[in-house]
This record gives sequence, structure tokens and C-alpha cells, in this order.
Amino acid sequence: MRLGFIGLGNMGKPMAVNLRRAGYKLTVYDVRREAANELVDQGASWENSPKEIAKKTEVVLTSLPGPLEVEQVAVGRDGILAGATRGSIYIDLSTNSPMSIRRIANIAKGKGVEVLDAPVSGGTLAAKAGTLTVMVGGEKEAFDRCSKVFEAIASNIFYVGDIGSGNMVKLINNMMEFINLYGSLEGLLLAKKLGLELKTVFEAIKASGGDSFIFRQKLPRSVLIGNFEPGFALKWAYKDIDLGTQLARQAGVPLFLASFVQQKFLEAKTRGWGDKDWTCFVLPMEEVLNVRLRY
Ligand code: NAD
Repeated sequence: MRLGFIGLGNMGKPMAVNLRRAGYKLTVYDVRREAANELVDQGASWENSPKEIAKKTEVVLTSLPGPLEVEQVAVGRDGILAGATRGSIYIDLSTNSPMSIRRIANIAKGKGVEVLDAPVSGGTLAAKAGTLTVMVGGEKEAFDRCSKVFEAIASNIFYVGDIGSGNMVKLINNMMEFINLYGSLEGLLLAKKLGLELKTVFEAIKASGGDSFIFRQKLPRSVLIGNFEPGFALKWAYKDIDLGTQLARQAGVPLFLASFVQQKFLEAKTRGWGDKDWTCFVLPMEEVLNVRLRY
């Protein structure tokens, strides 16, 4: 099976590398040509547009910032659907709007192309290790045809329902993850202000009820060592919580904590920190209390 991969950023590049390692012939594209250098050196082919990639491949994958870029790449003039052949499959790995990917899937159906929305979780470390979690929406038959593709990038693979369901689960996950980290930071800031030894507090909580995946995995690589290189850029985390709260508004579901954390992200983004790691929203909290959450 020949694969196309579009969007070679923090997540897309390691996923594409793992697909090559799994033995797939890969054709790649990114608006930043240099993003493809490493893959091309490893033997991947380059094409000048998503349309050209789709003409030559059976399955095209995208890992793009969000709804705007996905729409452009999927249904734009030189987009995937302009080149895709009947019977091919388009998999969007981005965290995207469920409504938007549904519209794209409808257009694709008219051309005999199946679409799967398959956002991923686990961050850049899991993307490199090929141990992501992927939540897939779309036709079950198309999902089954792509099982080996998903196995090359993920160790936890969930088929969650029709098209758009993958992103619904992902947006809910991210809201929970962000709220969870906000709560963890409040707790650690209090510990610091009380004069407790941060490393010991961190280890004690890691072995107690306040522990969580994001607490133990993320904090030691970001806030606690003062590293705000993205990982996962704040502007994309804001995009995710914005899509999540939009989804809830449309469903008539009030989300008190998610709305609050969205404002904390907006505060940090307004300071000009959109390209920093999303955990940088702790910086104004530290500023107010005049403490630093560093080991
Ligand atoms: P990124 O900004 O590092 O990568 C995005 C890539 O898309 C870049 O290489 C960019 O040049 C390319 N791109 C943008 N517009 C394009 C276009 N029109 N045509 C072709 N290429 C284009 O972002 P990322 O962190 O890799 O995230 C990608 C997606 O994965 C996002 O939807 C994000 O929400 C999601 N995600 C990220 C993480 C993470 O930890 N970084 C984790 C899970 C999910």
C-alpha cells in the first residue's frame, strides 16, 4: 500500500517516520519544504501538492493545525479530493472540528473516497515511539482496511463510531487533560507558597490520589524544569479547547471548568506566547504569587 503524508510538524514527522519504518512507501508534502528533508533523505518521495500526492497513493494521511488548514488541504483547488481516485481513503490525524470533517467526508463520498477522522493522543514522545492512542471515526470497513497503518503509529487503537466521533472523543479528552493540569498547578503553587519542598511534594502526589497521566508525564518535562519549548504549542491547545467548548454550546451543555481554562489559555496567548508549549499558561499564575514552580 502506497501512502501519502501531509503536515510534517511536531507530530506528523515522527508518525511519517514510523510509517516508513513499518515498510510503507511514502510520498510527503508540507508548506515548509524543509520539514520534509529528513524523510526524503530516508527515501520518501516529495510531491508539490496534496492533489499530486492523492493521485499516486491509496491512502493519504494529514496531521495539520486545525479546521482551516484541513479544509484547504482536503477540498482546496490543489487539494486531496481534486486528485484522489475512487476507492482510496483519506485519514485526518489532526485534532479537528467534527462538523468540518463531516462536511469533507460528504464531499469525498460523492467521489467514491472514504474519510476517517483519527486524532491522536500521547504527545511527541508517543509519536516518536509509535505508541500513540488513536480514536477513529468513519465507516468501519475503511477502518478495518487501515488497521496496519494505525498499528504502525499507535499502540492503543479505538474505533469510536461514525465520522466526526473521533474528534468528539479527542476534544473531550483534551478538555479533561487541560482542566486536570490546571488543578495540578494550583495545588503545586500552594505547596510552593507554603514553603514545602517541590520535588518531595511531586513524588508524594505521584504516589497518591492526586496523580494523573498529565501530572506525571508532562510536568517534569515542562514547568518543573522551566522548559516551554513546544511539544504542543499553546495556540493549538487554545484551538482544541475552543473547538470543545463550541461543541458543548451546540449540544446545550454548560462547561464551567473548560470555559475557565480556555480564558487562562487566552490570557497566555494574548501575551504573545502562542508558539510556546501550552503549559506556559502557568507563568502569569507564578507571577501573581511571586514564586517559580521549578525543582
Ligand atoms: P505543528 O505546527 O508542529 O505541525 C503542523 C504542520 O502542518 C507544520 O509542519 C506546517 O508547516 C504544516 N502545515 C500547515 N498548513 C499546511 C498546509 N496548508 N499544507 C501543508 N502543510 C501545512 O503542529 P503539531 O503539534 O504537529 O500538531 C498537528 C496536529 O496534531 C494538530 O491538530 C494538533 O492539535 C494535534 N496534536 C498535537 C499534539 C502535540 O503534542 N504536538 C498531540 C496530539 C495532537
